[in-house]
Amino acid sequence: ATPTALLVGTGRGAQLGILIKGPEVLESTRRVDTVVLDKTGTVTTGKMALIDVHVADGVDPDELLRLAGALENASEHPIAQAIAKGAAEQVGQLPAATDFTNLEGLGVQGVVDGHAVLVGRPALLADWSQHLTPELVEAKAAAEAQGKTAVAVGWDGQARGVLVVADTVKPTSAEAITQLRGLGLTPVLLTGDNEAVAKTVAAEVGIDEVIAEVLPKDKVDVVKRLQSQGRIVAMVGDGVNDAAALAQADLGLAMGTGTDVAIEASDLTLVRGDLRVAADAIRLSRRTLATIK
Ligand code: ADP
Ligand code: MG
Repeated sequence: ATPTALLVGTGRGAQLGILIKGPEVLESTRRVDTVVLDKTGTVTTGKMALIDVHVADGVDPDELLRLAGALENASEHPIAQAIAKGAAEQVGQLPAATDFTNLEGLGVQGVVDGHAVLVGRPALLADWSQHLTPELVEAKAAAEAQGKTAVAVGWDGQARGVLVVADTVKPTSAEAITQLRGLGLTPVLLTGDNEAVAKTVAAEVGIDEVIAEVLPKDKVDVVKRLQSQGRIVAMVGDGVNDAAALAQADLGLAMGTGTDVAIEASDLTLVRGDLRVAADAIRLSRRTLATIK
């Protein structure tokens, strides 16, 4: 290999908005046949907004927003930020939460105004025997059927409401998937979110293979499983919860708009967070390699 050609490749990469960790990275792109894409923040903008509030009988929606908003205010998760922002807009200043615990990939827990509050995946609340009422189950199902995320809110041992949060697919994602397919790669959507939301997003951007409801710690195992099937895996992600999977992948690509941990675990960084640049990166490195050989 001629080092000059490799350096030209990495220099061109910088122009395209691709940061390459080292020239040796290019070699890994050649045989990649599968590209695993994290959903939130990678395929979607990750900028969620609170769009609906459903409460159980006798629950004051403003109180639900106060308690849920106060707790989510302590979390940096995009869903949490959307809930805190939406709640503050509706009820004004939010109280402080104490005893805050982040249950990664599940939700948050803490104490607000003397209430033990739990906010997160409906399955998380169910695990704590906080079951949604039939009306809330219906609201959750309706939201999820539209590809929105239903977040359950409970306190003092009872589920009290459902908040509906929606994220939007990045305008460039569908074209990026088309380009990746054009390079011979099979796209796979990987997410901690529920199956219905995942399938809706996948259909919107043209992905057939969906692996949903995967806990952050298990994302790396999904990559390992695909590799054990003989697939050569590129992984694109943005979050702390993607770091191990990015490191395990044959080629890790981080969204430059994502967290530092993800960027550090990756071989390539897509500076602008535009998924089309993932296709550019693979095209560029294949071309660079062709120049060398
Ligand atoms: P992704 O894999 O799509 O990036 P995460 O693994 O971060 O998503 O989260 C998975 C799911 O856990 C979310 O879709 C949401 O339902 C739930 N969740 C995680 N953190 C929170 C939170 N702070 N508040 C509410 N729900 C949460
Ligand atoms: Mg993510």
